[in-house]
Amino acid sequence: MSRRTTGPEIERLIQLLAKLPGLGPRSARRAALFLIKNRERLLVPMAAAMAEAQEKVTVCSECGNVDTVDPCTICADPRRDRKLIVVVEEVGDLWALERAGVLNAIYHVLGGHLSPLDGIGPEQLNIAQLVARAKPPVKEVLLALNATVEGQSTAHYLTEQLSHAGAGVVVSRLAHGVPIGGELDYLDEGTLAAAIKTRQQI
Ligand code: ZN
Repeated sequence: MSRRTTGPEIERLIQLLAKLPGLGPRSARRAALFLIKNRERLLVPMAAAMAEAQEKVTVCSECGNVDTVDPCTICADPRRDRKLIVVVEEVGDLWALERAGVLNAIYHVLGGHLSPLDGIGPEQLNIAQLVARAKPPVKEVLLALNATVEGQSTAHYLTEQLSHAGAGVVVSRLAHGVPIGGELDYLDEGTLAAAIKTRQQI
């Protein structure tokens, strides 16, 4: 039997923090303590930022990005090159590519990858919307999917779907520099930039 050492509010904070990626129970306790110690500087503004984010966050109806406006900041930016759509699995990948800073394109977030064993087929992903978008003025669709088995089989499926759509759009993929099994979010910006610049037509 474990004894209580804090009130339920702090326990609750620790339990929630422990659900964050990369944080286990031990680091969640450290994070909670750090927040409590830095109440004015961190806990108060963080609580306010979270409340504001949960109130305003929305999914872009054009590309699937998350933002506080719809269409998202990227889709609404008139300086973006609308001839190139960059397809990613998750919003985290979009952010990674933006950090690499070599693209001035628009994006399409699939919401994951094909995974029949987990019941994720084409209908569960934003694939129909992508095919609908892949027409002039779009000239190229860059599949910036993870170099995992699932990412690559998703890329094959998308290539077929896009060629069947027959809009004459070039389909390309990230080139060398992305290690087998590599997830974009974990790559450094230089590697990502090199993979984008040397992308290859499929
Ligand atoms: Zn958008």
